[in-house]
Amino acid sequence: MRFFQRKSKCPTCNSELIDKQTRKQKCPHCGNEILVRSGKLLTEDEALTLDWLVRLEGFGVTRYTFVQSRDRLTDKFGKRASINDTIWGILNQLVGKYGADNSALEQIYRNMSSLVASEGKDPTPYLAEAEKARQRQIQETQSISTSLEEFSSEIDRILYSMVTKQVKKGIQPILRPTRRNQKQIRLITY
Ligand SMILES: [Zn+2]
Repeated sequence: MRFFQRKSKCPTCNSELIDKQTRKQKCPHCGNEILVRSGKLLTEDEALTLDWLVRLEGFGVTRYTFVQSRDRLTDKFGKRASINDTIWGILNQLVGKYGADNSALEQIYRNMSSLVASEGKDPTPYLAEAEKARQRQIQETQSISTSLEEFSSEIDRILYSMVTKQVKKGIQPILRPTRRNQKQIRLITY
């Protein structure tokens, strides 16, 4: 069964590796980092790209989006754009794209803060933006429940008018009194 004994190879220099790689380490031949993702050996660049693609998958960011953005930045900079610069550009575009969705915005700003922190810069401004988006979500939830209350009092009015019509026609109301519209139903029975 030669297939199962196949030696792993360095993703950078393609040299055969003696030991089975299960965690991050340097290639003894070329000295580049070898990272392991789902049992596969990847270069540091490829592994970091994959990590970001997994994190941003929910925002519709694909490998194609990533490659396009990286190529565009590479042209602009005149040298190969880093993963972080590429992801930073994508995150900024997402802020514009999801501007009205505070739940998405919170996640985008959290990703921005972790990217900034990974470069040893101050993540506080982005954490503050994430917190603002979270506060807006709370406000939205509150206003949704307020409008639900208005909605259900509108239903009460509709039920009231339906029941009134039935009573006028001599029909026994089919609605059972609930705690919510008990008062109105009782009004009808007088
Ligand atoms: Zn190597």
